[in-house]
Amino acid sequence: MNMHRSEPLPPQRVPVAIIGGGQAGLSMSWHLKQAGIEHVVFERKRCFSEWREARWDSFCLVTPNWQCRLPGFPYAGPDPKGFMLREQIVEYLDAYIASFKPPVLEGVEVTRVERDAEGGFHLRTSAGDFIAQQVVLANGVYQVPIIPRSAERLPPHILQLHSSNYRNPQSMPAGATLVVGSGQSGCQIAEDLHLAGRQAHLCVGRAPRSPRVYRGREVTDWLTESGYYDIPYENHPQKATVREKTNHYLTGRDGGREIDLRQRALEGMKLYGLFKGVEGPRFLFEPDLTRNLAEADRSYNNIRELVDKHIRDQGIDAPVEPPYVPAWTPPHDPVELDYEAAGITSIVWAIGFTPDYRWVDLPVFNGRGQPVQRRGVTPVAGAYFLGLSWQNTWGSGRFADVGRDAEYLFGHIAAALAGSERRVQAA
Ligand SMILES: Cc1cc2nc3c(=O)[nH]c(=O)nc-3n(C[C@H](O)[C@H](O)[C@H](O)COP(=O)(O)OP(=O)(O)OC[C@H]3O[C@@H](n4cnc5c(N)ncnc54)[C@H](O)[C@@H]3O)c2cc1C
Repeated sequence: MNMHRSEPLPPQRVPVAIIGGGQAGLSMSWHLKQAGIEHVVFERKRCFSEWREARWDSFCLVTPNWQCRLPGFPYAGPDPKGFMLREQIVEYLDAYIASFKPPVLEGVEVTRVERDAEGGFHLRTSAGDFIAQQVVLANGVYQVPIIPRSAERLPPHILQLHSSNYRNPQSMPAGATLVVGSGQSGCQIAEDLHLAGRQAHLCVGRAPRSPRVYRGREVTDWLTESGYYDIPYENHPQKATVREKTNHYLTGRDGGREIDLRQRALEGMKLYGLFKGVEGPRFLFEPDLTRNLAEADRSYNNIRELVDKHIRDQGIDAPVEPPYVPAWTPPHDPVELDYEAAGITSIVWAIGFTPDYRWVDLPVFNGRGQPVQRRGVTPVAGAYFLGLSWQNTWGSGRFADVGRDAEYLFGHIAAALAGSERRVQAA
């Protein structure tokens, strides 16, 4: 019998390894490809899997189409001010892949990244080992769905799912649904159910809200013109908190509009404060619905004031709008709900995600496990993050400006590779 044992293959060498085949990883790949720099993108699923798999059926962009400006491939469709539906987004992204054919290894997971003895990086992957001189961590920040431990105390006949697994009202069991979380996903999913005639209950958290159109123009246009989207994180007046803030809620649905939860309450959506837990047949809530709605309105009004100031400062002739008046105020802050009596048969947890860096064995995190980086450049030479929220500006973790961040990192990578090339030649 042949007892020959196959030797492990030696690691493959590549100048740059990019981990993640989403918009961040492929933006980086585009820049490297233009410069003829050899690299590999590792994607454990399929490129843009988040957009293909983790969005509900009626999903559409919250940001306008014109902000889809991946490097070398700005949105060129017929509706720049519109909001692409999920299928259209996927079409745009597939066309992006076809436009420059990035060197992606799909279905290959990176299971560990660590320093190697020569000062580069050793990547262990499901397709063998690689050695890279430079490594870009573009693995996304919306990775691990958050579900609270109190979920375990719910009876099994209540269906529970995370917002990334919600698809449509018809796939939910008959009866009412509690959506927990009022960020962009939670509000839009609660609306999706409500507009389909389903009884939606919503736990309203601390997420801010934004106007969509104000004083005759889309707010995104005003904020672009006023330079807000170019404010770097380092100069942001709320630098201490801005990276951790939940996104403002509004929607691209119906051609783009605001989400007014007070109005939805008048129409029959049931609102509560923060979800606190489960006790017997009851959900418990914090007594903060009134406060949370008021806080969301405060951010809404702050954005209007920002626009007012810009209009004033620039002497722009724009129509004036009446002051905001809340459509409804809760009569009291509900603190509990008998879920059996309310006919609740399902819960959608829309309280976000955490990133997953367990496989990154590099000293690039702070005491809270968050990336330590400045514009994506880490304290470890040759290791970079890309696609983080507010990595540099508002558009960093979005379609709008991830390309700009990739271009910045490209400068570092190209210079580092040129430097090591010079050192090799000198030696
Ligand atoms: C519900 C929702 C709505 C959003 N709406 C908008 C919007 O309207 N406009 C906008 O501009 N932005 C929006 N965003 C924000 C942002 O554009 C998306 O989150 C986008 O997917 C981020 O792209 P990314 O490339 O940074 O990360 P991802 O899309 O998460 O890509 C990371 C990739 O890395 C892969 N990966 C992770 N770990 C590994 C590993 N170890 N090995 C190999 N591969 C790995 C993953 O499979 C994934 O494909 C939204 C986000 C969410 C969650």
